[in-house]
Amino acid sequence: MWHRTIGSGPRRVVWIGGIHGDESEGITATKHLGEAFVEVSGLCKEVTLIIVEDINPDGRIHKTRGNARGVDLNRNYPAKNYKSGGSRGAKPISEPEAEALYHLLIKSDPHLVLVAHSWGRRKKGPRAFINFDGPAQGLAEEFSHHSKYPVVPSSKMHGTPGSLGSFIGIDKGIPILTIEYERGSDPQRCWEETKEAILAVIDDRNNDEHLIKSADK
Ligand SMILES: [Zn+2]
Repeated sequence: MWHRTIGSGPRRVVWIGGIHGDESEGITATKHLGEAFVEVSGLCKEVTLIIVEDINPDGRIHKTRGNARGVDLNRNYPAKNYKSGGSRGAKPISEPEAEALYHLLIKSDPHLVLVAHSWGRRKKGPRAFINFDGPAQGLAEEFSHHSKYPVVPSSKMHGTPGSLGSFIGIDKGIPILTIEYERGSDPQRCWEETKEAILAVIDDRNNDEHLIKSADK
């Protein structure tokens, strides 16, 4: 798992390019994000951006959701709703990939976490969407405004025990946005559709009204 840090501002944002090995759509966004970030005037002085390429390299190679041991790296965090067993692992952060990400997040203490996933389109429902956990409704709406991806709150989805959203967003109270790209679509198109939205939520300089909205929720 490589990660790199760009910028030196007080606002800390972590981007995670992939968790599920069979959801590779975020790969191009991850490649282009650093360059796009430094092109926004003054942003490097406002934000420290940590880009994590992908936490599941084995899954990426084998095109499996879980890691090489079959554990879902988005169900392996010490959230209050963690459930042991099966694809969730024997205990929280039992997997080295989840443990590495856990330590990176604890150490960097971010103001915002962004994670790229993708989903196979259902008969009903959007082809792609933005989901959030924790105090991130305003940021999700900002993302939606720029990308036209609809906001789908976690309450409208199946429970996700031990997920990153449960741990970081709900338990720790750190805003986390989960981008669900359209599974199997062109990764370049995924990036182009969401570039402006990603940069808008990373750049907090115009987001005061959204923070107020979130607080009122
Ligand atoms: Zn996923």
